Amino acid sequence: MMKMLRDYIKSLAMLELLKGMRVTGGYLFKKKFTVQYPEEKAPISPRFRGLHALRRYENGEERCIACKLCEATCPAAAITIEVAPPLPDGSRRTSRYDIDMFKCIFCGYCQEACPVDAIVETPIYEYHFENRTDAVMTKEKLLAHGDKHESALAECIRADGKYR
Ligand code: SF4
Ligand code: SF4
Repeated sequence: MMKMLRDYIKSLAMLELLKGMRVTGGYLFKKKFTVQYPEEKAPISPRFRGLHALRRYENGEERCIACKLCEATCPAAAITIEVAPPLPDGSRRTSRYDIDMFKCIFCGYCQEACPVDAIVETPIYEYHFENRTDAVMTKEKLLAHGDKHESALAECIRADGKYR
C-alpha cells in the first residue's frame, strides 16, 4: 500500500520524466555519432569483404586460370565454374563463372584460395538487386566489376603483392 502511494506521488512529481530529460540533456553537447549517409560514409575495416570481382592483368588478360580452387573451398557452394577447352597456348579459362549472392556468406575463402588473385572481395558495399536473377553474379558482371574498380582494388594490394 505504502509502495503504491509512494509511486503515485512520484508520478505526480514527474521524477522519472525529469530523470530521462537529464540523460537526454547530458548527450546534448557530447560528440555526435550520427553519419549523414549517403553524403557521409562511415569508415570500414581494411579487411571488409564486399562485392566480388574478377580481376585482369594489366594487359587485359583474365587472371583466372579455371583451377576451381575457389569453387572447392566455398563453404556455401555458391560458386559454379565450367572450364572452357584449353587455348592454343595451353592456358585454361572458364566458360562460366557464377556466384550466387543469395548463398554467399562473404567469408572470403574464395579470395584466400585463389592462387592468382583473380577472384576478390572488393570494399564496395553499395549495390542492390532488383530481381532474383540479378543475385547471380555472372563472369561478365564480375569482370565488369573488376574493370570498373581496379584502381580501388589496387589500394588493397599488400606489400608482398597479395590482394589483402
Ligand atoms: S565469400 Fe565465401 S561464401 Fe561467398 S563465394 Fe566466396 S567462398 Fe563462397
Ligand atoms: S578465381 Fe582463382 S581459384 Fe577460382 S578458378 Fe579462377 S584462378 Fe582458380
